[in-house]
Amino acid sequence: TTNEELRSANEEIQSSNEELQSTNEELETTKEELQSTNEELITINEELQLRNNELSEAVDYSRAIIQTIHEPLMVLDTNMCVGTVNKAFQQLFKISQDEAGGHLIFDLEDGNWNIPELRKQLQILTSQKESAKIFEVAHRFTAVGERTLLFYAMWLQQHDNKNKILLAIEDVTQRRRSEQQLKQSEENFRLLVQNSADIITVFSIDGTILYQSESVKQILGYTPGETKGKNMFRDQLVHPDDQSIKEAMYHKAGNAPRENIWAKFRMRHKDGSYRVIEAVCVNQLADERIRGIVANFRDITEKEKLENQKDEFIAIASHELRTPVTSIKAYAEILQEKFIELKDPSSAEMVKRMENQIDRLTHLISDLLDTTKISEGLLPFFSAYYDMNELIKEKVEELQHTAVKHKLVTKLKKGSLVWGDRDKTGQVLVNLISNAIKYSPNANQVIISSAYDKEENITVSVQDFGIGITPELKDKVFGRFFRVNEPDIKTFPGLGLGLYIAAEIIKRQNGKIWLKTERNKGSNFCFSLPLKK
Ligand code: ADP
Repeated sequence: TTNEELRSANEEIQSSNEELQSTNEELETTKEELQSTNEELITINEELQLRNNELSEAVDYSRAIIQTIHEPLMVLDTNMCVGTVNKAFQQLFKISQDEAGGHLIFDLEDGNWNIPELRKQLQILTSQKESAKIFEVAHRFTAVGERTLLFYAMWLQQHDNKNKILLAIEDVTQRRRSEQQLKQSEENFRLLVQNSADIITVFSIDGTILYQSESVKQILGYTPGETKGKNMFRDQLVHPDDQSIKEAMYHKAGNAPRENIWAKFRMRHKDGSYRVIEAVCVNQLADERIRGIVANFRDITEKEKLENQKDEFIAIASHELRTPVTSIKAYAEILQEKFIELKDPSSAEMVKRMENQIDRLTHLISDLLDTTKISEGLLPFFSAYYDMNELIKEKVEELQHTAVKHKLVTKLKKGSLVWGDRDKTGQVLVNLISNAIKYSPNANQVIISSAYDKEENITVSVQDFGIGITPELKDKVFGRFFRVNEPDIKTFPGLGLGLYIAAEIIKRQNGKIWLKTERNKGSNFCFSLPLKK
């Protein structure tokens, strides 16, 4: 029995041993499992750390953006309490983070931010739960004065339902001011155009009226609405006899963009009468903003009437003056002879001087008469072939007698005969040479030269070394009654007709007249005439 007991004990030990072994094995696997779980936890932990880093990086990143962005930004909670304000905000409003953070937006700057419009808009945003809202507020801020601000308000959805409002602010003060100024100047300009005494018209390329200013009512009796859409060529707005002038002006403008083109024609009033219109038009077709021909019509009917009256007066007066002056001249001649017979040389000399003055008067009267004839288109021309150099020599000799100080020097080139009115061209020469003497009181010579080009034209020039003419007035001196109105020149006597008549005489003979001049250096008046008939 003892033996058996020992055996069974041995068996038990053995089985316990086996059990222990298997438990041991189990423990071993559990240990391994724990180890791998531990490793997993470590990786999870690492990953969490990584995410955490990423998250705080993202937060830093967005904070940096908010702080550096140029637009002023502020974050509010749902109670309108200010959280963050960025640097731009602080700079714009001169309010620091400490002064703003934790306060109600409406309490900022001691309640100055309690702006009804801001309050109303934020209330709409919160109560209607709109996702975003844009609104404008004009207000006088304590630190920075009058401002117009554009607010962009939007919800920032937060996970814990602690929603926030982001307010981005744009300072549009300057922009609104400029817009206001632009509007104002537009309005001023519109009023200016509307109240202008001239009719301002914009035409399309085919002559259709696109716009006409209000003054069309005063001048032509139509309202701008009535004329808009009418055509300058088809709708008989211009006097039939002047239609070609209008067309020529239009044609010229069409070919010369941006140049001022002048014309004078009669336009029909609504009542059937005609008004004399002076027009200046500019082709602005290429200008995107206008895309038309802009014309300025000025009513010069009254001015024309006065101008005609003046011409009539000059015509009558000069005509009436001529006869008595001619008789005075005749009597003076007789008187001079008488004094010579009576051996009274001093009286004879006085009468001689009187005669010189009468000659000047005759000259003035004949200039006035010529002007009248020119404006009436009645200046007669008698053409024939003549020798220009001979004519120059003759006139130079004539004038040399009266010249006190000046030597008249001629530099003449040989050439063929000229076709034209010898007397009239002689008149031009006398005028240019007399002017050259008159306007060079400190000089002592005048040079008269002639030259021929290719046997087609002759050019004559009269050069002096006198006071000269300001370059801007170069073209004006040929105008009727034009005289240079500068203090040192006003003292020279004259009517301002000589050059006007000279220019007309040259133009009527298909020639050209021009001048080269420099103030205080002298003038060189030139004219050219065609040689052939
Ligand atoms: P006026 O009778 O005044 O001389 P003109 O028609 O002959 O009239 O000349 C017009 C103006 O042109 C003059 O008033 C003068 O100012 C100017 N002028 C004409 N010729 C000369 C010149 N040779 N030198 C300087 N100025 C001149």
